[in-house]
Amino acid sequence: MITVLRIGHRISRDKRITTHVALVARAFGASKIIIDTKDKKIEDTIYSINKRFGGNFEIESGVVTKKIINNWKGTIVHLTMYGEELNKSIKKIDKSKDMLIIVGAEKVRPLIYEKADFNISIGNQPHSEVSALAIFLDKFTKGLWQKKKFNGKLEILPTDKGKRVISKDS
Ligand code: SAM
Repeated sequence: MITVLRIGHRISRDKRITTHVALVARAFGASKIIIDTKDKKIEDTIYSINKRFGGNFEIESGVVTKKIINNWKGTIVHLTMYGEELNKSIKKIDKSKDMLIIVGAEKVRPLIYEKADFNISIGNQPHSEVSALAIFLDKFTKGLWQKKKFNGKLEILPTDKGKRVISKDS
């Protein structure tokens, strides 16, 4: 089971990007996101996505980060541009264990680097927690996230033109 821990969330500034982190986590194979700052709006947004598009992705906000990290029974991965090369580190991760993936917002406290079993970079240029998480999950799951079934009320069928959506309500 994969859980994403989003740290440094500031409600006014990060609402959109943290929502995107949550959506990436949900779509690309994680089971849950934990956000340090309480944000009911993001929780509601994600539950509304679940209601329409399915799945049982969980969201929790307003937590003590240190407690989550200290009590974590599994692997802790921290995504940072300062970390070890993705392709090198990914091979060392034990896939049978639960994994907590930490992504930051602004500067991340030294404690996170110390507590992480793996500090991993997705290239060494600064970019975004959204892209870093998406690439990490794609590589980690070897693309298997694409096969996940959500069984939602709404299902989108791939098409080369326009939109094809099955609505199970109608
Ligand atoms: N100085 C930060 C750092 O340590 O990566 C950049 C802050 S960036 C705006 C916010 C978050 O995006 C970071 O905390 C990290 O989780 C993620 N991130 C940005 N660039 C990354 C990279 N090249 N590799 C892995 N994660 C990255």
